Formats: sequence, C-alpha cells, structure tokens
Amino acid sequence: MFKIAVLAGDGIGPEVMTQAIKVLRKIEVKYKIEFDLQSADVGGVAIDKHDDPLPGTTLRICESSDCILFGSVGGPKWESLQPEKQPERGALLPLRKHFRLSTNIRPIKIFPILKDICPLKNDLLADSVDILIFRELTGGIYFGEPKYISDDGTYAVDTMKYEKKEIENIARLAFETANGRWGQVTLIDKANVLMTSMLWRRIVQNLWENEYNSIKLNYMYVDNAAMQLIKNPAQFDVILTSNLFGDILSDEASVLAGSLGMLPSASLNKENFGLYEPIGGSAPDIAEKNIANPIAQILCVSQMLKYSFKMNKAALEIENAVETVLNKGYRTKDISLEDTDKIVGTEEMGELICLQI
Ligand code: NAD
Repeated sequence: MFKIAVLAGDGIGPEVMTQAIKVLRKIEVKYKIEFDLQSADVGGVAIDKHDDPLPGTTLRICESSDCILFGSVGGPKWESLQPEKQPERGALLPLRKHFRLSTNIRPIKIFPILKDICPLKNDLLADSVDILIFRELTGGIYFGEPKYISDDGTYAVDTMKYEKKEIENIARLAFETANGRWGQVTLIDKANVLMTSMLWRRIVQNLWENEYNSIKLNYMYVDNAAMQLIKNPAQFDVILTSNLFGDILSDEASVLAGSLGMLPSASLNKENFGLYEPIGGSAPDIAEKNIANPIAQILCVSQMLKYSFKMNKAALEIENAVETVLNKGYRTKDISLEDTDKIVGTEEMGELICLQI
C-alpha cells in the first residue's frame, strides 16, 4: 500500500484535485494496488483555519507519506499578509526545503492534436514536441552565500556555488530517464564564462564516459538554448540544467503547450520522495466555475506513479487516456480554438479521462 498526502490548497486546487483522485482510484482498481490518501490543509485555506499556511499536522501527514500530491495555493485574499506568512512563501517553499527537493522535472509536451494552441507556427514543431526539463532546485545562485546589498547601497553580491554531489545526483536521474526515451541529454550552461558551468560540464562528461555513454550527450550555451527552444523545440529530448537557467528556460518552454492547465511537474529528493504539482497557480479568476482544466493535475498523478511508485505502465495509461480524449475533440475552454470543439467542464473532462482507463 502506498501512502499519499493530498494537499489540494486554494482556488482551482480542490476542483482539479477531485478529478485527479478519480483517475487515481481507477488505476487503483485496474492495477489491484491500494493507495492510502490523507488530505491536509495548506496555503490560504490553512491560514483561515489554523492561522498557518503549513500547519504542523499537515507537515506530519507529509512526513508519514510516500509522496505529496499538491494542488496550488494563493489568492488575493492573502496577498496583503507578510511575505513569509503568504501561501506560497509560507507553505510551498518550506515544503521544498524541508524535504530537500533538489530535482525539478517539468515535462513540456505538445499533444499533436493541440499543435494549433502552441503560439509557434506548426512547421516549427516537427511531428511533436516532448521535452523533459531537469532543473536543479535547491542550489546555485538562489541559495549561495554570501548574498547581500552593501550598507551604502552601491553594490550587491549573489554567490553561485555548486558541489559535485549536487550535480551528479540530478545528472544521473536525467541520464536514466533519457534511457527510456529517445536517449538524448542536452546540458545547458554558460561554460564559456562561468566556473560553475565548467564544473557541471566536467562532472556530467565524466559520468557520461563512465556510466551512461549509450546516451547521446550534447552541450548548449543558455543564450543559444533560449533561442533554440523557440526556433526548433523538437530537437530537445531531456534538458539538464542548473537552478537559475532552469527557472527561466522552463517558464519559456511552458508557453509552448499553450495553457498552464496542461503541464504537471515533479520535485524529487535524493531518496526519491516527491512532490507533484501543476506548474500553474490557483487561478482565482476561474475558481469554482467548473471551467478549470484538470489535465495538469491528472498528469501529476501520472508523474507520481512513474517517479515515486515505478508504475510506468499505469503512468503511460493515464497519458494515453488524456490524449485519446483530446483526439476525440473534447476541450476545456483554455485549450479550445475551433467552433467544432466539444467544450466540457472540469468534472466532465475528469470523467472522460477516467472512462479511457
Ligand atoms: P495562475 O497560474 O493561477 O493563472 C494564470 C492564468 O492561467 C489565469 O488566467 C488562469 O485562469 C489560467 N490557468 C491556470 N491554471 C489553469 C487551469 N488549470 N485551467 C485553465 N486555466 C488556467 O497565475 P496567477 O494568476 O499569477 O496567480 C494566482 C495565484 O496563484 C497567486 O496567488 C499566486 O501567488 C499563486 N500561485 C501559486 C502557485 C503554486 O501554488 N505552485 C504557482 C504560481 C502562482
């Protein structure tokens, strides 16, 4: 039996989470496996009930679980609180830190049938785009010390630092994942200027030579990569990169999918404990209207099955179910372009996906 902490959060979080859980329950029956789901308050709803965006009870439920399925947090109601008491700063960041979630994995997939919602011209997309970005999440310039603005305000310092073990850990995961895909890893860095990037290249190259040389490894400078993601995104398979570059490139790449409602993400620690969340926020503008797209949250379940429970077949079944429903013309509003689309709400989209499993 697997234990899962379910933290639905605010805004559209609870409604898209309900659909994701429905899909998980279908998998449970079909694959004869038991999931023990424990729900807990997080974010704004936890502030309202417990005066704390990440109450101790929630943290303890997470600690006693195998992984966390997260919705999203935040909304205008809590925006005037002190930053560390706000839902994102007070809950999501401490969770990432507490569980030392050092690897962020963000799949950027354009389903062929949805090519038209991608802002790029169709001929730039080849057959399809299916990129997996591995971003180091707890090191680099965001965390390096010293970090300060001088007393007289005339200069400031940030420190970019990486250690061999941090790089090796994420590089291994990227190589191993590429093995089950087309088998290509692109390390994106700034090795023409930065010492940390030179270290990344040295360590990744060594690892490749000694353990993973059946995978194709190539290198790209980050400035060129930013351009290539727009000019020819289909050339990428697995992207491996540091915290700062990954932050920027993963947001740039997420635009390719056309809607935030389509994209899940996984954050893992070295022991493979994972937090799975859609890349979008709590979308208060569309909350409780039954129009939010539940696909990102449903694909989080697929990611969870793959990375936390090694249930690759079930994970793929969910992805295929999503694709089948899209191929039949069903769309939530955010991914609809044609008059002929069959527009459905959050709940119906969840139901349709369940029916394919
Ligand atoms: P957002 O991602 O919530 O919304 C941006 C736009 O995308 C909105 O128009 C929204 O309607 C749309 N959108 C997002 N998810 C969608 C879905 N599943 N289906 C259809 N449309 C969808 O970003 P925002 O408006 O800048 O932020 C709203 C709140 O979310 C803020 O309080 C912010 O702090 C918080 N936030 C939370 C997280 C998180 O929990 N990880 C991440 C980002 C933002």
